[in-house]
Amino acid sequence: MSEILIIEDDMAIQNLLKVALKQEGYGIKGVATAREGIDYTVANVVDLVILDLGLPDMDGIFVVNVIRDFSESLPIIVVSARSDEAEKIKCLDAGVNDYVQKPFSTAELMARIRAALRHRAHTEQASVFENGSLKIDYAAHSVYLDGKEVHLTNYEYKVLCVLAQNVGKTLTHNFIISKVWGAGGNDANGLRVFMAGIRRKIEKGPYMQEFIRTDVGVGYRMNRIE
Ligand code: CA
Repeated sequence: MSEILIIEDDMAIQNLLKVALKQEGYGIKGVATAREGIDYTVANVVDLVILDLGLPDMDGIFVVNVIRDFSESLPIIVVSARSDEAEKIKCLDAGVNDYVQKPFSTAELMARIRAALRHRAHTEQASVFENGSLKIDYAAHSVYLDGKEVHLTNYEYKVLCVLAQNVGKTLTHNFIISKVWGAGGNDANGLRVFMAGIRRKIEKGPYMQEFIRTDVGVGYRMNRIE
């Protein structure tokens, strides 16, 4: 079941969307502020975001920028009352998948959601990362070691993906934190706890650094395994 996050402060529209999406069999979460939307997206598995631009705390475009910082592929559909072309182009430049003008037809929006989800499934089909005995299946959100599935928490998975996407490169604590939690969303000590959790699950022993190497005082690196 695809999980859809609705970030919309107009409760009448949020409820209308919830009813329509539920009928289509989607899992739904609705929030009314940009902050809640960002927090939810980072901490949960979300397959598509429906986003209003005029939110009480921040402009919706900020949400797009934050999401695109950690996910290139999460589909975002803007549903907005703003009608000028410049606004629409700004959204598309920021990496929005689609732009639907309010008032909208529910049937049309559903069709666009299906298209965005199909597109994502297609682009992620080939996205499997392999490094030695470690494998990440991005589309399935699954990690395997020697062919056996490793169960990571959501944050552990996100940290591992950032390292994998930059394999062979030392990443600073701040870089990893900003990709996973957003800037200032965690600190080096907090990150260390997640790293320890990941290592317990993928390394052969507590002090082994076959996959993830610590660069003391700098950050972490995923070793490229030949
Ligand atoms: Ca609004």
